[in-house]
Amino acid sequence: MEEWIEQLRNSVSTLEKLKAYISITPEEEKAITTLNTKWGTTPYFASLMDPDDATCPIRKQVIPSLKEKENHYGISDYLIWKENRDTDEVRPDSIARQYYDRIAFTVTDVCANYCRHCFRKELVVDRDLKLRMDVDEGIQWISEHKEIRDVLVTGGDPFILSDDKIEYIIAKLREIPHIQMIRFGTRTPIVLPHRITEGLKKVLKGYHRVPIWVNTQCNHPKEITERTARAVYDLLSCGVNVGNQAVLLKGINDDVETFRTLHQKLLSVRIRPYYVFYCEPAPGIDHFRTSVEKGAELIRDALRGHTTGLAQPMYVIATNIGKIPLMPDYYIMEKTEKEYRLKNYKGQYTTIPNIPE
Ligand SMILES: *Cc1c(COP(=O)(O)O)cnc(C)c1O
Ligand code: SF4
Repeated sequence: MEEWIEQLRNSVSTLEKLKAYISITPEEEKAITTLNTKWGTTPYFASLMDPDDATCPIRKQVIPSLKEKENHYGISDYLIWKENRDTDEVRPDSIARQYYDRIAFTVTDVCANYCRHCFRKELVVDRDLKLRMDVDEGIQWISEHKEIRDVLVTGGDPFILSDDKIEYIIAKLREIPHIQMIRFGTRTPIVLPHRITEGLKKVLKGYHRVPIWVNTQCNHPKEITERTARAVYDLLSCGVNVGNQAVLLKGINDDVETFRTLHQKLLSVRIRPYYVFYCEPAPGIDHFRTSVEKGAELIRDALRGHTTGLAQPMYVIATNIGKIPLMPDYYIMEKTEKEYRLKNYKGQYTTIPNIPE
């Protein structure tokens, strides 16, 4: 059996199995035994947990918390609102649309790791939202909409599908003349790097008219290992670029030191930071949410100017009307008829001339 399938079959999703990796706190145990929620991770990802520290960033992303029962600020029926499912345009369940030229195509609700902060929680984790994920129906819709040039294949985690199924999706999308690029959103390079097999590489590699891009999700430097580095290299060797979409998570990556190390370490394994998302107002994840300003402050204080320019993600909030940038804007201090007064990351000033229009 392939190692990645073995990892999934042996998913750490019971109290007994989890006990092999960590000493479980009474709170963790109570949440696991009382909450009606899907949870679990791969043995590989579980092995990265700190056995003795319940504040371990990996534990907090994997193990259910009693705080998930509290919901003061989450929007109910979040996905219906967020993915614009309640609109006049008739679309298959698998298609989420916020933009004219690109869509998100949900092909599975299965994941290797059931992230506690998931904004698709209702669908993926709590499973009280049911969507029909019919791949052929989605592809038919895409082929009938000539304005769509970019398809973001998502889930769940699309790389949990078999090589054959992934190959089928790619081949069908490449047959559509107006499709210019395919993106996969997958956490496997982080939670199941074993998934990047020779078989999958065969499916992904080669020079084609329509390129494939991958975005993964890594939220803390502890999630990056030698195996991550290898999986990313293997994807790149297939001509597939790998980006990161982190989620800003309270108590996990919302301090300057962690935030900077995360972005530096991503580049050290060839992952290009793409987005940092504000933790969305889905139900039951209040405890992961920071202030909206927090991400901009972290970019200002941890990244911009402080480290490599390639380590700079765009900080955005994903909403029902699309992603909205929330970048820090401290640099233009003053504009006069004659000049702009600019500030750098150290608080130093400079001026450049203002050219009349
Ligand atoms: C995030 C998202 C996209 C892709 O947005 P980019 O800014 O192009 O990465 C497309 N459609 C939906 C519904 C999305 O949520
Ligand atoms: S891998 Fe993605 S879709 Fe799956 S639980 Fe995590 S955040 Fe949600």
